[in-house]
Amino acid sequence: MHAIRGDAHEEIRAHFGSLEAWQAIGDWSTFDVPQPSRVPSLLDHGYDEDLPATAWDADLYRDAADFRGGGLITGDVTRGDIATPLAWTCAHGHIFAASLRLGLTAGHWCPECVRDSANYEAQAEGNALLAQLFSSGAPAML
Ligand SMILES: [Zn+2]
Repeated sequence: MHAIRGDAHEEIRAHFGSLEAWQAIGDWSTFDVPQPSRVPSLLDHGYDEDLPATAWDADLYRDAADFRGGGLITGDVTRGDIATPLAWTCAHGHIFAASLRLGLTAGHWCPECVRDSANYEAQAEGNALLAQLFSSGAPAML
C-alpha cells in the first residue's frame, strides 16, 4: 500500500504487475476462496517406486530424467548406488549434479529452475512430474 500511496510505479509493478492489475483486484465480495481437493493422491515420479534402490539401473535413471523433461549425462553408472552425484540436464538445458537419493527419493531436480518459482507453470510444460501439480486440484502428497 506504501507503493500505491507513493505512486511508486516500479514497486507497484513488482508487487502487483501494474496499477491497473491492483485496481482490478476487487474486494472480499469478489474473492473466491480456493477449494483444493480433500482427496489425497500420489504423484507419479516417472519410475517404478516399488523397486528397491538396489535394483535401480541406468534405464530407470534415464526414464526418471526423461519424465522430468531432462536427461542423464553421466554414462557410467553403478546399479543401486544412490549416493554418488551424477550429471543431469533439465528441460531448459541446465546441467547440474545430484545423487539419486537427492533427485529421486528426495524429489529435488534442477537447482536453477527451482529458484524461478514464478515460472513453475511454464516449466511444467516440459516436466511431467511438475505438471501433475498444475492439473485439476493439487495433490495432497508428494
Ligand atoms: Zn533447469
